[in-house]
Amino acid sequence: MRFLIFAFLAYLLYRVIKGVLASGQSPVSRDDRRTIDEMVQDPFCKTYIPLRDAQKKTIAGKEYFFCSSECAERFKKEIQA
Ligand SMILES: [Zn+2]
Repeated sequence: MRFLIFAFLAYLLYRVIKGVLASGQSPVSRDDRRTIDEMVQDPFCKTYIPLRDAQKKTIAGKEYFFCSSECAERFKKEIQA
């Protein structure tokens, strides 16, 4: 009987530890944080914008990130002039 109680307690402890470990590593929230932290610089106005809000444009075979399409157009004109 005593052994059964011990086994039950050990099982409970195992469940608690497993639960703590599982909540400590959530791949979804970690991905969100990485996306928010990733900043790119607009080469025209030199502003830093989050990558998910940036406008990606390929100009003269190179990829650039802009805060707006206006900056993209101006930058394009500037480097082509
Ligand atoms: Zn800009």
